[in-house]
Amino acid sequence: MNENLAPAFSSPAAAVRALGLGEEALRLLVAVDEMGPAFAERAFRYDADASFPFENYDDLRIAGFLKLCVPKRHGGLGADYRAYMLVSQRLGFWCGTTANTFNMHVANSLWTADLVDTLDLSRRQRAEHETRRALHYGRMVEGALYAQPFSEASSAAAGTSPFGTTAKRVDRGFVLDGRKIFASLSGAADFYGVLCTELKARARASRRDTMFVAVSAKAEGLSIVGDWDPLGMRGTVSRTLILKNVFVPDDEQLMPRGIYIQAARRWPHMFMTLTATYLGVMQAAYEFTLRYLRGEIPGISVKRRMYPTKQIAVAEMLVKLELAWAIFLRAVADAKLDPSEEERARALACQFTVMEHCNDVCRLAIRTCGGQSMLKSLPLERYYRDSRCGSLMLPWTAEICMDRLGRSALYRPGETDE
Ligand SMILES: Cc1cc2nc3c(=O)[nH]c(=O)nc-3n(C[C@H](O)[C@H](O)[C@H](O)COP(=O)(O)OP(=O)(O)OC[C@H]3O[C@@H](n4cnc5c(N)ncnc54)[C@H](O)[C@@H]3O)c2cc1C
Repeated sequence: MNENLAPAFSSPAAAVRALGLGEEALRLLVAVDEMGPAFAERAFRYDADASFPFENYDDLRIAGFLKLCVPKRHGGLGADYRAYMLVSQRLGFWCGTTANTFNMHVANSLWTADLVDTLDLSRRQRAEHETRRALHYGRMVEGALYAQPFSEASSAAAGTSPFGTTAKRVDRGFVLDGRKIFASLSGAADFYGVLCTELKARARASRRDTMFVAVSAKAEGLSIVGDWDPLGMRGTVSRTLILKNVFVPDDEQLMPRGIYIQAARRWPHMFMTLTATYLGVMQAAYEFTLRYLRGEIPGISVKRRMYPTKQIAVAEMLVKLELAWAIFLRAVADAKLDPSEEERARALACQFTVMEHCNDVCRLAIRTCGGQSMLKSLPLERYYRDSRCGSLMLPWTAEICMDRLGRSALYRPGETDE
């Protein structure tokens, strides 16, 4: 489409510049845009069948993207948090399902690389972690796909109670038992990065004992159950995982024992990565609307842009999109160890804004383009359904973001009304 019609940051180069990134990041975005049109074409089928986008992952694998956030010294592309967020946004623009699932894969490398290096670890933990992550990174370099199931149908994924999935220490490893719901990439992943609680003799389960371990898809005792026929993000195939007496060797630990909780507290932006997917969906819905109203969608050549109501709706969508981009770029730039209270709040505000604006822009897009625009032969009704999922993502659902923002604005740490 004509560049002049798009908002400032629809241009990958502008977003790269805004985050202070360089040529390398730009090349990654160009590579996504080369793969993207095929992703967009296939998205109809994955959505209709609620099937996993295997072909897209073949393309991503060939392009080296399964090692995107694996450090260069381990053979990866070495993309950092900021570069990943832009890549993910662009993937979301072409196919929401692919970006949503890719986020789960990438978390297994992004969370375990520089992020862990900045935390307080003993010398021994650091040495062990270096050896263990080399194993996982080696697999990603070879093209293995990792999932990241943490949700459990309890308050654990929201971060308020320990994970009910347990890890019991045994000789040379752990035995895992539990159940994970919404495991995106179920049946497609080679490994599942599972969050669980280490059981300690005579001690109550504690969030401090959270472990992050990779379970092979071939592990004995691991099964995938239940059907998958959801409203949106249908190609994520997020079925239920059952872990029954699953032995996991020591080296499968993705983080040293007890470190996950330190990461969650000190590196909160690790939970904001899915905003990129939904910013991509929002951008796609906006650009579709422009093309539709200009009469540029093949097969529907009626122009509708001359009506003031259309122009106002498009302006409203653009304002929401620009606001989302602005807070996204700022919050992504904030991401670091021990951010300030203001930066933490901005990350939550970013998650809320992107997820809710995405759905709102899609809602306006359908109302504005009208009846024919919601036919299944066009992508807009899928964007609308996909867009509803962003606010449901734990640990930062839209409601949890608002709860935390309101409370932290009104109460100082430790303050009560007693
Ligand atoms: C398409 C899709 C893909 C997904 N992929 C994955 C994945 O790969 N891995 C994974 O682990 N999970 C995944 N999830 C799950 C997701 O992160 C959530 O865990 C899931 O949507 C929670 O559903 P629930 O009904 O158990 O929510 P509940 O926890 O029961 O929440 C229900 C409602 O209560 C609110 N609520 C819950 N706790 C609190 C609280 N403490 N304070 C205030 N309000 C609260 C929530 O905001 C929500 O509105 C996926 C979800 C979707 C929709």
